[in-house]
Amino acid sequence: MLRCRVCGGAVRECLDFGRQPVSSAFVDPAHTGAELFFRLAVGFCTSCTMVQQLEEVPRDEMFRFDYPYRSSGSTVMRKHFQQTARQLLDTELTGPDPFAVEIGSNDGILLQDIAEAGVRHLGVDPSGEAAEVARAKGIRVRVEFFEESTARAIRAEHGPADVIFSANTISHIAYIDSIFRGVDALLAPNGVFVFEDRYLGDIIEHTYFDQIYDEHFYLFSIHSVQAMAAQFGFALVGAERLPVHGGAVRYTVARAGARRPAPEVAELLARERELGLGLPETYERFAANIRRTREDLLALLRRLRAEGHRIVGYGATQKSATVANYCGIGPDLVSAVYDSTREKQGRLTPGVHIPVLPPEEFGAPYPAYALLFAWNHAEEIMAKERQFRESGGRWILYVPDVHIV
Ligand SMILES: [Zn+2]
Repeated sequence: MLRCRVCGGAVRECLDFGRQPVSSAFVDPAHTGAELFFRLAVGFCTSCTMVQQLEEVPRDEMFRFDYPYRSSGSTVMRKHFQQTARQLLDTELTGPDPFAVEIGSNDGILLQDIAEAGVRHLGVDPSGEAAEVARAKGIRVRVEFFEESTARAIRAEHGPADVIFSANTISHIAYIDSIFRGVDALLAPNGVFVFEDRYLGDIIEHTYFDQIYDEHFYLFSIHSVQAMAAQFGFALVGAERLPVHGGAVRYTVARAGARRPAPEVAELLARERELGLGLPETYERFAANIRRTREDLLALLRRLRAEGHRIVGYGATQKSATVANYCGIGPDLVSAVYDSTREKQGRLTPGVHIPVLPPEEFGAPYPAYALLFAWNHAEEIMAKERQFRESGGRWILYVPDVHIV
């Protein structure tokens, strides 16, 4: 029997996407033989409800020194983190000499504003290349994985943290017990551990199945985060719905008994009971919706290709690794993917090997159809590529179902 990585309870398998590559491992066309594959399967814990992957990809395979993702690539995300930094500065970083730590600081998109406000801070991130970008903005970074020993070393050097923040990182970390022991060691008595992650409720409600890939080891809900916090001597005291990434939640965790929970926590827990997030049939329905999306998308792409249309992809996202590999979408259906991340250009997408090209080449000439893999940035991308539609091109979307716009 499989055991829950959070509480040790029994885990029931509910989704199987088969053999998948490491989603950030874009392939050098000259060296296509050495890819790592794993089985992407998901289960839920019958005791704490945590949804989690059944097979773990070694962290060094995913979060390498040259990890290609850059948080600051999107202006929407830049604005989101500016607001987040402002909120933390106004509510939590108000003492005489506050100290903020960020787990997974990437290129400094959040800490930038905290550094500019003159507040003591430290980013922790294993990607040395992203850290260099952050340092150029005047941000202090330790190039390391955050775990209990890292937290103890930071505490010894800098003292306790008033805020430990993290965005789209905590759900990536299978060894969650070490994270919470680290937070326990580093956090001030009345400090807060604030983290944002994609929300299971939205993923199930809108069939955002491509949010499931190697890095998203856990899919958090209010219920499962509350149980996880309690497991390690903390309490969930805040939960705020966020519109980013197709739906996320900002969780605020404090030491048990230190703070009174905000009323939103109980409201969101009640909503989850209505959604049936703890029930096996909810996951059976989710699995059926995913299979239907795969059938519909493949049928559409094959028909358009048979009619002689050229189809490309837009956004070589890590999400697209799950879609392309699970559905079997290779260069025969989608001839290229356009992406603004310099580190991905000239490479092939993981597993299915679709060439990645810079977006400047998207219109030379425009294809008939573009499959929007970066659907979470749809508004921003469609505005930027207005000319594509004006010249007769059409976007293909596959969430919440397959449709053309
Ligand atoms: Zn559990």
